[in-house]
Amino acid sequence: MLRMRRLELARLWLWGSFALAGPLQAQTNAPPDERSCSVDTRIEARLEDEHKRLDGTVTQVWRNATRDRVSELRFHLYLNAFSNNRSTHLSESGGRLRDFEEQGGWGWQRVTSVQADGRDLMPSFRYVQPDGGSPDDRTVFAVDLPRPVGPGESVSVVVTWESQLPRVRRRTGFKDDFLLVAQWFPKLGVYEGGRGWNCHEFHASTEFYGNYGTYDVTLDLPAKYEGKVFGSGKLVPPPERRGERVFTRFVAPSAADQARLDATGKHPLVHDFTWTADPRFKVKVGTFHFDTWAARFQDEVAFAQRALGADKRLELRDVAVTVLIHPERERQWERHFEATCTALFFYGLWFGEYPYEHVTVVDPAWGARGAGGMEYPTLFTAGTQLFTTEDMHTPESVVVHECGHQFWFGLVGNNEFEAAWMDEGFNSFTDSEAMVRRFGLRQRTTSYSSLPFHGTAPAPAPAGGLLAELFSARKIPLGWFEIEPLRSSGFIDFWRDQPHLAFVEEQEDPRWADRRGYLADPDRDPVDTPGWLYADSTSYRTNSYPRTAVILRSLPAAIGEGGYEKFLRGMRHYSELWRYRHPYPDDFFAAFNEGAGVDMGWYFQDLFRTSGTVDWEVSVDQQRAPKPRGFFQADPSAPFVDSRQPTEPSNGQPDDQLGKEDSSSDGEHDESGWKSRILVARHGELRLPLTIRWTFEDGTSETRLWTRDEQAQKRWLRIEALHPKKLKSVVLDPERGYQLDTDMSNNAWYDETEDVAPWRWAERAFTRYAHWLHWQAGLGG
Ligand SMILES: [Zn+2]
Repeated sequence: MLRMRRLELARLWLWGSFALAGPLQAQTNAPPDERSCSVDTRIEARLEDEHKRLDGTVTQVWRNATRDRVSELRFHLYLNAFSNNRSTHLSESGGRLRDFEEQGGWGWQRVTSVQADGRDLMPSFRYVQPDGGSPDDRTVFAVDLPRPVGPGESVSVVVTWESQLPRVRRRTGFKDDFLLVAQWFPKLGVYEGGRGWNCHEFHASTEFYGNYGTYDVTLDLPAKYEGKVFGSGKLVPPPERRGERVFTRFVAPSAADQARLDATGKHPLVHDFTWTADPRFKVKVGTFHFDTWAARFQDEVAFAQRALGADKRLELRDVAVTVLIHPERERQWERHFEATCTALFFYGLWFGEYPYEHVTVVDPAWGARGAGGMEYPTLFTAGTQLFTTEDMHTPESVVVHECGHQFWFGLVGNNEFEAAWMDEGFNSFTDSEAMVRRFGLRQRTTSYSSLPFHGTAPAPAPAGGLLAELFSARKIPLGWFEIEPLRSSGFIDFWRDQPHLAFVEEQEDPRWADRRGYLADPDRDPVDTPGWLYADSTSYRTNSYPRTAVILRSLPAAIGEGGYEKFLRGMRHYSELWRYRHPYPDDFFAAFNEGAGVDMGWYFQDLFRTSGTVDWEVSVDQQRAPKPRGFFQADPSAPFVDSRQPTEPSNGQPDDQLGKEDSSSDGEHDESGWKSRILVARHGELRLPLTIRWTFEDGTSETRLWTRDEQAQKRWLRIEALHPKKLKSVVLDPERGYQLDTDMSNNAWYDETEDVAPWRWAERAFTRYAHWLHWQAGLGG
């Protein structure tokens, strides 16, 4: 109760300062944020059903928060990415999208008028390709303003457009009556003080970047969509029926949210508006309650409270969760709901409250998978399959990930074009942490024509190359032509694999799945690379998702003492400081250091801006300390004494105190103990402070930190130990804080080796081989 009182007082104080300082300025006393111009948007749009034509008018009021005078406006016209195979988007992807060649279902968009303050700007209308992509690209256009917009001034610009929605692909379009309408209106780019317009072409691999502001959208749709239209923000009820049409209006954020101050003392805003409609939607509603989740995960709440300080308010607001699901998968709605709550709870606990009153989860229609797995403010699309079991974590993992984007990208609005890793990577890191806490390990399965089968092949089947094709009877070249007797299909693959006989059960920790992803391509490009400039799509994916996750997960170990608490403080501070704003990598680095109270600049530089890797290795040479031979002098004035003579107590330890319990002495060695030389070597360029722990047979152990400075001198470290007992083990990074080591098999040394593991692996390889032979024989019979 006491805490609540304090909170109320804090709120009153915030309201007071808000009232004094005026709207929005209350957020901060800092100088104007040169990268956070705001835009308020009003849209009226009409969908013509038969051909899925969508026409509309959009009014955008842009406020210049920079110190620049701006005389040009730039807009995205995203739907033109799908207008032909010469767009930058399809040129870069070789005309293919998610492995399918685009043959039809084109979508396009055409601007019919642009006006600012009543003046016609069409005479200056031109398409531009700011990234130097395809000259035929039509995804960005520019117009000149009749007079420059100065600092602090606004301009209201009205654009009318016509468009053809594409058949669903890359997260926008229609499939039958299902609509997911995203990146759908001519949208102002982001103007950045001193840098100009940041308004990139629609690339094959990049995502988006938009201004924070508010939306007021009215949709004029065929009457069959009545009650089945959902969008960012909140519906302003009721939908209005006029003959065969229905008018639905949304305000984003909702009016109540716009009036509210969130936990960081700011008014919630959004940076995009997306809508969806389908007469077949089953609409399910639940509510996220913080208390229920806090009771389930008391240790997590206690840790966050400890790390962030006893005064930090951790309670989160209630959130209404709407799940839009298709009838054939209706039974899965509670799984969608639970996963959404998982994200709202853990992300909110760690990085601050989700500030809106509701969130909507969209299950794309059958055949519209291209609309799945995408994030928009207060609305996101998931994706599942008809046959799935709970331990597969489908749809949970995609729901947690996409809902997680409400935080990393929705609330902290980094530039997805230029730094995709700042949302995808941060989100991959967090979703794995949330998933493993709520759902545990994932059962790995193999899919045959969308039918999952528990288990995986112990070793990969032969694949690729003419010989493999020949052996598996997939392709048999016969002179000028070839036959394909056994094309890959669910049945054929099932027969080939015979999962009942050959598969092994495998469970996976999502955090280690991140590491597996990282190892797929650990050093092609630096992480901090614009999305369209990575070597290829594999590099884009690896760097943007798992590599960044692995780097963040390893950061507490690099910080050292109290690393996990400091890490959370740093991330929390960054998240709150950059809420509803546009951070770049250096902003993250600075905010993290400030919040965590550390200077990890070197780590950010080495890990995000180079492609260095590391592989540590340990080896040990140990033997009994040799028995003293020759002549010894106890002190400078004493005579030399032959070591074979009975020794004086002053000449070391008396014989009768030495390791008598070890009767295996061969007379050649001193029984005073063992001499061990531990050699730790580093391959690769990354220098990370590394803890080394060595343990003796009697259970005593010692640790040593191999510092970055020492590593700059030498790429190896030798530790010499003289100890009465044998060395039992040496382990590098014993707490397993780093996931970065590219080969962990050489990170530990044990005096006694374990025989079971190699046998297991040999058995797996042998099983696979035997199974393959068996299958070949089956082909002959
Ligand atoms: Zn993502």
